[in-house]
Amino acid sequence: MLLVGYALYALFRIGRDRRSLIIAHLDLENRFQAQRRAEEELRLYATMFTNASEGMTITDATTKIIAVNPAFCQITGYSKEEVIGKTPRILNSGRQNDVFYQNMWNTLNSQGQWKGEIWNARKDGSIFPEWLSITAITDQNHLPSHYLGVFTDITERKQSEARIHHLAHHDALTGLPNRLLLSERIQHGIQTSPSSHLKTAVIFIDLDRFKNINDTLGHSVGDDLLIQVAHRGLSVLRETDTFSRQGGDEFVAVLTGLSSRQEAGRICDELLNTLCQPYLLAGHELTVSGSAGIAVYPEDGDNATELLRKADLAMYRAKEIGRNTFCYFSAEISTTSIGELLLENDLFTALERGELLLHYQAKVDSRTGELVGAEALMRWNHKTHGLISPQIFIPLAEESGLINAMGEWAIRTVCAQLRSWIDEGLQVLPIAVNISAHQFVQQALPQLLADILAEFAIPAQLIELELTESMLMGNASHAASTLHQLKDMGIEVSIDDFGTGYSSLSYLHQFPVHALKIDRSFISQINENSEPIRLASAIIAMAHELGLQVIAEGVETEVQARYLVEHGCDISQGFLYSKPLPAADFAKQLKLG
Ligand code: C2E
Ligand code: MG
Ligand code: MG
Repeated sequence: MLLVGYALYALFRIGRDRRSLIIAHLDLENRFQAQRRAEEELRLYATMFTNASEGMTITDATTKIIAVNPAFCQITGYSKEEVIGKTPRILNSGRQNDVFYQNMWNTLNSQGQWKGEIWNARKDGSIFPEWLSITAITDQNHLPSHYLGVFTDITERKQSEARIHHLAHHDALTGLPNRLLLSERIQHGIQTSPSSHLKTAVIFIDLDRFKNINDTLGHSVGDDLLIQVAHRGLSVLRETDTFSRQGGDEFVAVLTGLSSRQEAGRICDELLNTLCQPYLLAGHELTVSGSAGIAVYPEDGDNATELLRKADLAMYRAKEIGRNTFCYFSAEISTTSIGELLLENDLFTALERGELLLHYQAKVDSRTGELVGAEALMRWNHKTHGLISPQIFIPLAEESGLINAMGEWAIRTVCAQLRSWIDEGLQVLPIAVNISAHQFVQQALPQLLADILAEFAIPAQLIELELTESMLMGNASHAASTLHQLKDMGIEVSIDDFGTGYSSLSYLHQFPVHALKIDRSFISQINENSEPIRLASAIIAMAHELGLQVIAEGVETEVQARYLVEHGCDISQGFLYSKPLPAADFAKQLKLG
């Protein structure tokens, strides 16, 4: 009996030991596999670290470098041995001040990460821009144990940006500053004047009968004349003044630091005198005269738009009184702009009277020409003036605050249109709506969109927004949060008129945007005779590198279309494919579902 009891007990123990052996075995097996996976991961990370094209730095908690990868050495010129044990300060170029680094550390400490553009120095002393991202790695106690820095050399991108910036701010024919740069110069003149009690004058000059020369002697003679006018204008002005071409035969001079109004008149006289000396053009001796108008800060206005408008009005007065002369702006002249005032009044009632409408312009796949969407463009059908361009009434609407109501109307109208097309059984495509700067700052756009989309039961993917770069610059944190909300809702955003503003792709990269629209001015530079324009292609390549889609605006010719396909542009829009059309005409291009 005892024996049987013992045997049973022994059997029970063997069973129990076997079970724990099996469990121990499984445990070992698990641990072994976990270790193998960890080793594999480590090997993978090591390969990535070694082969990455980005430079990488790992430091300890005291920011002493403990590892760098081959790309780091290649970009900076330092060997591994030269930097281990040092801090990344050896790369300091001196271009950033203490405040910059303080902000960087504040962000790193509070958010665990910092990203941005920074200028660093290579071993040979040369300075280069890089896009740097630093991440703090924390231990079990959530304290930073290491920092990982990853950077790319963005010299090339910066150079392209600088070239885009130059092209966007200068007139291609004469090399003079253009409209965009002119406004900046006037603003600058104004800003530096108050402290010195000096005046800034804006002189608007229009050549008399230029059109005659162009029409009778041909464009190349006309171009030649404009170039010579540019040279003569510059020869009269001081280095600190600006001479710019507004387009056509219009030039604007900005004179800063003047002690009196009369001084502007004296210089203007000299300008007109120089311009009306004979020119030698294609073997002909020709004389051309100019008419000019002067507006002066502070008496006539305190911003570029106002001064330009008043100088322009004064110039027309000079033409009326007999050309080859100049006029100062005066209050009496300003009554001529009453038309503008009337227009502004009318705009108030335009919405109520249903005078606003939307036209739709096709967006097509650059390669296949297939319709992929449209842009909604606002029109004002004025009772007496007929169709008025948004270029004229959008600025008025912004000034008067009406733009919010008009912008909301546009979104609502597009959604209502989509709903009725869907109900008719058409296969609809995404429609882009332009958003103005005021609207972007003032309205709670995501909420507004959510409400309107719900009202018409339209999926968010069918609405896209077009913003300009400058809207993101003003208040970056507001912009970022709005864009994130829109992205979460599934609404795509593109950057309109890219290239005419700051043209900073590195800056844009921080925002969740979907696409870039290359401004029409870059597309119009692509033509048969021009040496290959690399700019549009540079924008396309850079945008793709950052994962952005590229849309070309204002495509008018086959040559441009071919160029864009060759350089990988994704989507095209322009008169070549279709003009902006009334809704019913556009709908004919949509397929039945
Ligand atoms: P945008 O958004 O850059 O629109 C493109 C402009 O280029 C449109 O002018 C369009 O008609 C024109 N365009 C398109 N293809 C070609 C082409 O092949 N050649 C040429 N020469 N032009 C082409 P549009 O309709 O006069 O609009 C001008 C601007 O007014 C727009 O520029 C946009 O900034 C603004 N805008 C239009 N509708 C609205 C709107 O509903 N809300 C706001 N806030 N702004 C709007
Ligand atoms: Mg647009
Ligand atoms: Mg545009």
